[in-house]
Amino acid sequence: MIYLLSAAMVLIGLLVHVATLVPLRKMMGMLPAGTLRNRWRVMMGLILIFIAGYLGYIVMFWGQQSDWSELLIPGIFLFGSLFVRMTIRLSLQTAADLRRMDLLEAENITDPLTKVCNRRYLDRRLEDEVARSKRYAHDLSVLMLDIDHFKRVNDTYGHQAGDVTLATLCSLVKDSLRDSDVIARYGGEEFVVICTNTAVGGATLVAERIRQLVESQTISIADDSGASKTISITVSIGVSGLSGSVDSKDALVNAADKALYCAKEEGRNRVVVATEPVLAVAGRGDR
Ligand code: GH3
Ligand code: MG
Ligand code: MG
Repeated sequence: MIYLLSAAMVLIGLLVHVATLVPLRKMMGMLPAGTLRNRWRVMMGLILIFIAGYLGYIVMFWGQQSDWSELLIPGIFLFGSLFVRMTIRLSLQTAADLRRMDLLEAENITDPLTKVCNRRYLDRRLEDEVARSKRYAHDLSVLMLDIDHFKRVNDTYGHQAGDVTLATLCSLVKDSLRDSDVIARYGGEEFVVICTNTAVGGATLVAERIRQLVESQTISIADDSGASKTISITVSIGVSGLSGSVDSKDALVNAADKALYCAKEEGRNRVVVATEPVLAVAGRGDR
């Protein structure tokens, strides 16, 4: 009787270990290939060794238990397996919760249409970058980019084609930037690029490269009948940099905005840098 109870306890423990392999595999599936996933793989190996050990115990000690005190070891086996299962289920739940929080955080700072950062993130990040650049005396520049005559794209090809154009432009610009640069949607069809550790001269080259890239590309749009049309767009870009007179987040954005206004006034499809004369003459007009 006691030996049957002992075998039953070890067998249940063995089955618990087998069941634990399911959440363990799920968790490994959530992790990217790398050290952490390899460590969980080692854990899986250990559980398989436990399973073999439990099986060995049942076979080797079958029918030998005759005293209640001999249930101590099967009891430890059983609770050991429950402990391992609980630990792995909790780890899986924690990993799933962290992933959900990560996703929420990403959604919170991403513009859903263009997949670049949104205005909320831009404000916070630019504030941080200005503070950091001033503290360590680093350069910091900002590009303000606006699509030329974008209303015409919407009017000619439809709002949906306009949306595709915005998304394509963003992926083009994003691919041409350094990892440390940040692009964010400022509003409608205006975007801001933060160029960290970059003086105005360097940022102007970046802006010119973007302008030429956009000008040289065509954007394919499929219409309702499945036929594809191509759209060409150009952009105007205002560039500003942190300096003695432009020394805050708002001043940087305003200066780039004024330079952008000048680029529009001068005929569009161009880059204008916010120098003192530009700042003096430009006012925010109704573009
Ligand atoms: P300019 O060269 O002076 O910048 O001319 P513009 O036509 O680009 O400027 P305007 O400000 O008159 O028009 C901006 C247009 O951008 C109008 C608006 O409908 C469009 N727009 C803003 N946000 C979106 C969007 O999310 N999707 C689409 N399809 N269009 C948008
Ligand atoms: Mg525009
Ligand atoms: Mg605009």
